[in-house]
Amino acid sequence: MTSSETMTGAAVFILLGPPGAGKGTQARMLQEQFGLVQLSTGDLLRAAVKAGTEAGRKAKAVMEAGGLVSDDIVLAVLRDRLAEPDVKKGVILDGFPRTAGQAEALDRLLETTGQLINAAVSLEVDDAAMVDRIAGRYTCSACGEGYHDTFKLPATAGVCDKCGGTAFTRRADDRAETVRARLDAYHAQTAPLIAYYDGRGVLARVDAMGAIPDIAAALGAIVARASA
Ligand code: AMP
Repeated sequence: MTSSETMTGAAVFILLGPPGAGKGTQARMLQEQFGLVQLSTGDLLRAAVKAGTEAGRKAKAVMEAGGLVSDDIVLAVLRDRLAEPDVKKGVILDGFPRTAGQAEALDRLLETTGQLINAAVSLEVDDAAMVDRIAGRYTCSACGEGYHDTFKLPATAGVCDKCGGTAFTRRADDRAETVRARLDAYHAQTAPLIAYYDGRGVLARVDAMGAIPDIAAALGAIVARASA
């Protein structure tokens, strides 16, 4: 089955925003609320690095330096994922597209299925706060639930609220020096996509500096409206 056959008829939402804006947290919440599938190219690439695939071997050094992995590699891992049947429920693209080339490749893919982008949501934040947000974050190794040393601790110290797991992981690229490189890459290559989707009439903006549930409510309203 090709990716285009699998995706036919499914809703497509895009989350745009710099590292630390909360794309992953919000995508996971939308996944639960709307039954959409969170599709994070960062997660797919980290899995490829861990599995030692050819794509993973090529991506590893770039990711550790906070740069952007080449469009070819990103599109290859994304196409493989889109070939899986669960994406029929609709997808939230978290961290993709990140370059003009990726946005055009997505347009070409959707053209073949006659699909439209329901909405591209820009999570708007102050850069200055992002380093602190990212430097304190960690996830449950078992279920991937996200936590933060200051902003979101588990109810019982050392135990995941979601699955009871007791092992947690910090990303190798969440160090302050690397975060700055990732923010630079965002501004140089990804931020121009906000104007791109605005021009297409599908852009929505959400203030993402507030509390996680408030941001989720604003995003949920956009998704509900754009799904109708
Ligand atoms: P993320 O988990 O979205 O913060 O992504 C982690 C890292 O994976 C990024 O800093 C990039 O090195 C790489 N990456 C993830 N998605 C993309 C993409 N769409 N294009 C290029 N590189 C990506």
